[in-house]
Amino acid sequence: MKNVWHELCREPLALISDKVFECAKCRHISNTFAYECSECESKRCLRCVIALTPGARTSLRHEHPLFFYKDYHGRCDACGNLTLGAFCCKDCNFVLHFGCFSLPITAHHKCDEHLLSLTAHNDNKYSESHYCDICEESRDTNRWFYHCAICDTSVHVNCVLGKYPFLKLGSIFEETDHPHPLTIVKKKYYYLDCNKCGKPCEDLSLECSKLECKYIVHLDCVVHYTLRCFLWWRM
Ligand SMILES: [Zn+2]
Ligand SMILES: [Zn+2]
Ligand SMILES: [Zn+2]
Ligand SMILES: [Zn+2]
Ligand SMILES: [Zn+2]
Ligand SMILES: [Zn+2]
Ligand SMILES: [Zn+2]
Ligand SMILES: [Zn+2]
Repeated sequence: MKNVWHELCREPLALISDKVFECAKCRHISNTFAYECSECESKRCLRCVIALTPGARTSLRHEHPLFFYKDYHGRCDACGNLTLGAFCCKDCNFVLHFGCFSLPITAHHKCDEHLLSLTAHNDNKYSESHYCDICEESRDTNRWFYHCAICDTSVHVNCVLGKYPFLKLGSIFEETDHPHPLTIVKKKYYYLDCNKCGKPCEDLSLECSKLECKYIVHLDCVVHYTLRCFLWWRM
C-alpha cells in the first residue's frame, strides 16, 4: 500500500490514525486508519482505499465477484436507497452501495447476548419475523439485517449500528469551534447539559478533555442533522 494516489491530487497519501475524520469517499465519520492527501488534506478510510483498488471485490454476503462503477446510478439491493457509484455484479445484476459494502459482518447489541450476523434477504428461511426486535417497526424483508440464529432476533442494520458505527468511544475530536481537544463519550449517570442545545447529554457527546472546563456538547449538535443523513447514505 505504498503508492496510493488520490484521483484528483498529485501528492501521495500518508497513513494516519487516531484522528476523527469524514471519509471523502464513503462519507462515514470514523477514527480508524485513514490515508490523508499531503496537499489538500482530504482523507479516505482504509476500507475505501482497499475497496477502490482496481479489480474484482468480494463481499462475504454475495457469491459472485463485484466490480466498482463510479458512474452507476440506481438502488442499492442491500438497503434500498439510491446511490451514485456502486459495486455491481456482472452475473446477477446485484448492486451494493459503498456504505453497505463496508458494513461489519458481525455486530454486538444489548438486545441479544450473542453476536449478530449480517444477513442477506435471499436467505428465505430467515424471513419469518417481519419486525425489528429493537425498534419494533416493520422490516422490509428484501433488505439486509442483523440476525441471531439462536434467539431468532432480527433487527434493522441502523438500529444495531447507530449513527456512527465507525467511531470509537474515548477518541479525540478536534474539528469544532472549542479551543481544547474534545473526547467522544457516552455518559451513563450524571448527565450534564449540552452547551449548545441545553438538553442533558444522554447520547454520544463530546466532552472537553480539560477537567476544569466542563464543556460538553451532543455529537449531534456538532454534526448537523441533515449532514448526518447525507453522510450515512450517500457516497
Ligand atoms: Zn470511506
Ligand atoms: Zn488531495
Ligand atoms: Zn446500501
Ligand atoms: Zn451476483
Ligand atoms: Zn429497528
Ligand atoms: Zn441470541
Ligand atoms: Zn445538544
Ligand atoms: Zn475546554
